[in-house]
Amino acid sequence: MSGRSVFVFSEELLNYRFNANHPFNQQRLKLTLDLLKKNGSISDNDIIAPRTASMDELCLVHDPEYVQAVMKAGKGELSAEKGESYGLGTEDTPVFPNMHEASALLAGGTLTAVDAVMEEKAEHALHLGGGLHHGFRGKASGFCIYNDSSVAIKYMQEKYKARVLYVDTDAHHGDGVQWSFYDDPDVCTLSIHETGRYLFPGTGNVNERGQGKGYGFSFNIPVDAFTEDESWLDAYSQAITEVADFFKPDVILTQNGADAHYFDPLTHLSSTMKIFREIPKLAHRVAHQYCNGRWIAVGGGGYDIWRVVPRAWALIWHEMTENSNCYGSLPKEWLEEWQISAPIILPKEWDDPNNLYEPIPRKPEITEKNAKTLEKALYPIRSHKKLPTT
Ligand SMILES: [Zn+2]
Ligand SMILES: [Zn+2]
Repeated sequence: MSGRSVFVFSEELLNYRFNANHPFNQQRLKLTLDLLKKNGSISDNDIIAPRTASMDELCLVHDPEYVQAVMKAGKGELSAEKGESYGLGTEDTPVFPNMHEASALLAGGTLTAVDAVMEEKAEHALHLGGGLHHGFRGKASGFCIYNDSSVAIKYMQEKYKARVLYVDTDAHHGDGVQWSFYDDPDVCTLSIHETGRYLFPGTGNVNERGQGKGYGFSFNIPVDAFTEDESWLDAYSQAITEVADFFKPDVILTQNGADAHYFDPLTHLSSTMKIFREIPKLAHRVAHQYCNGRWIAVGGGGYDIWRVVPRAWALIWHEMTENSNCYGSLPKEWLEEWQISAPIILPKEWDDPNNLYEPIPRKPEITEKNAKTLEKALYPIRSHKKLPTT
């Protein structure tokens, strides 16, 4: 069934909810799917339900004690003091009822996507419930409990002997995934994000390149606050192209956090819908060029759930299915339905207007700085390429 794409979804994914006021809100999954439906871009046959990750699967990267702590926390059986040592019950990652079940489903959804692609039931798979890239081996962090991408990569290594390229375009550094495979030369991670100087989690420096045998297989492009489309895309397109050519993966896993947008309330980048058109396009090209089409895409951050995330994430599906019906006006039925509950005026078009925000005064400096950062990040590949081959 070559050419087919699948969309992993069930209502139960929305059970991953810390509390009513928490910025991480999976209502965005519903908003995105409904946008695709009302746009006539998806049918019920394209949708498959996520499965739950088993204890063994979670423990491919997580400590069993940590998983047990999450189970207890979700049943109200973990003391606050114990929870804190696992990063549970913090302001960022509060405890909520049945949090293990909700988190294991979210991790399982990424495995559902992986199996669909690796067993050739689909060429591409999209699981927007995943992308929780801050989860650590034994600790929750930054809204993330289980690290679905790390679990999925380890799973692909063990079950399918695949070499995986992980590409993370969330505005925050993909730290959890990077540290999971920091010493592994069979997994290559590339993260482009707002510099950690003022932003969580603070890591993702250009000098974090891996360790031991994995040295040279971690790439980081920390861009400056207020970076705009052009400079961001310049860095991203060169990085993904050259890193893919260097690593030649069997499969690509992309994390598609949608929080690099100007409207995002938690970050300080100044991108528009333009980058969210290009991100999946380049990933798609890499998938066909190196991976026989094998491409799994997950979600991630994205905190303007009304104006940014549905459009950005719907564009991934349009790219996967090579459907260009995503220009001009958004479907009227979608706007009518959701404007009632939206606390803000919804955009009417797929693209942002050119004058979305006031000009950024430091633009030339930012652009120059990002170009230098990119040069540094890619230097090992570029300098290696220049050596004469025998
Ligand atoms: Zn983020
Ligand atoms: Zn394709």
